[in-house]
Amino acid sequence: MSDRSWTADAVRRIEADGLRSADTHLLKVDLPDWSRTPAGGVDLYLKDESTHPTGSLKHRLARSLFLYALCNGWIAPGTTVIEASSGSTAVSEAYFAKLIGVPFVAVMVKGTSPRKTELIEAQGGMCHFVDSPTEIYTVAQRLEHELGGHFIDQFTMAERATDWRGNNNIAESVFAQMAREPHPVPEWIVVGAGTGGTSATFGRYLRYQQHDTRLAVVDVENSVFLPAYEAGDGSIVSTGASRIEGIGRPRVEPSFVSQVIDAMIGVPDAASVAAARFLSGRLGRRVGGSTGTNFWGACVLLAEMVRHGRAGSVVTLLCDSGDRYDHTYFNDAWVAEQGLELDPPTAVLDEYFATGSWRE
Ligand SMILES: *Cc1c(COP(=O)(O)O)cnc(C)c1O
Repeated sequence: MSDRSWTADAVRRIEADGLRSADTHLLKVDLPDWSRTPAGGVDLYLKDESTHPTGSLKHRLARSLFLYALCNGWIAPGTTVIEASSGSTAVSEAYFAKLIGVPFVAVMVKGTSPRKTELIEAQGGMCHFVDSPTEIYTVAQRLEHELGGHFIDQFTMAERATDWRGNNNIAESVFAQMAREPHPVPEWIVVGAGTGGTSATFGRYLRYQQHDTRLAVVDVENSVFLPAYEAGDGSIVSTGASRIEGIGRPRVEPSFVSQVIDAMIGVPDAASVAAARFLSGRLGRRVGGSTGTNFWGACVLLAEMVRHGRAGSVVTLLCDSGDRYDHTYFNDAWVAEQGLELDPPTAVLDEYFATGSWRE
């Protein structure tokens, strides 16, 4: 087979996989009676990205990255695809690498959840571990060179590989699913940032569709997105690793488009974990840590809307299932070892759901 017909077949396989897949659900979260305000009430929605075949919002990204690389001629028959990943991206990329029949290597930090490692290996991918999160990029580049492979580079390519105008991107899907809701155009979209790709897609789409919706990005401890945003300085770096898998980075990633973000909200790690547990309890199934971060940020904004007598909707993401994190966020020993005090943020959420007022 010529390279060109191999590429055509690889693209066809990915498109066929897309046709076999359904869109993800937009869940409405039940809020207590205080949410029914005279102004018309506030509503919260969760776009459930855990239902993709590879279990997270990274399924969309991996599909886009592979199509982008194939259509740029960067992946040929037998090209080893390499990624620097905190886990979820690699799980999804291993799936697409297997689908088109190329080898896959994930460069990840030691301590990434063993579930994710198992999932990568189950798809035939290999895991290459490094000690510090700042090393993953240089090691991925080195492997690209040594193996004659292709470093698919989610942190650089996320914002450009996804078609922000539409083409069934996550933003277009959310707005289509909101069409018959009481407040179809949300006041706020709330997302975290790992690559920054999801927030870039939403922010651009909002402008392109001329919606008034504002974009809030939640950020976690040991991440530089928030301090860099506040200081207007993209060169800030940190040495610590984020404990909330999928979000929070030690450098401002190239795919983080700060200009399209209307507000950033810092969320302590204890609050993210407490919120993941709290929301899991209300939904009757476990959600991941970054979903907890999103939920906390959404509660802050909903409380503010109620305080100002505003009606409207807030949409955030259920990024992945908590089943991947029973060793960490849902394990009391891990939580204690990390020094995370869950009682105070849990009390804030309990009080919020009971009364509608948010204690700072
Ligand atoms: C990647 C990821 C995010 C953030 O999405 P980006 O588009 O990379 O910014 C949030 N949660 C989880 C679980 C992720 O894997």
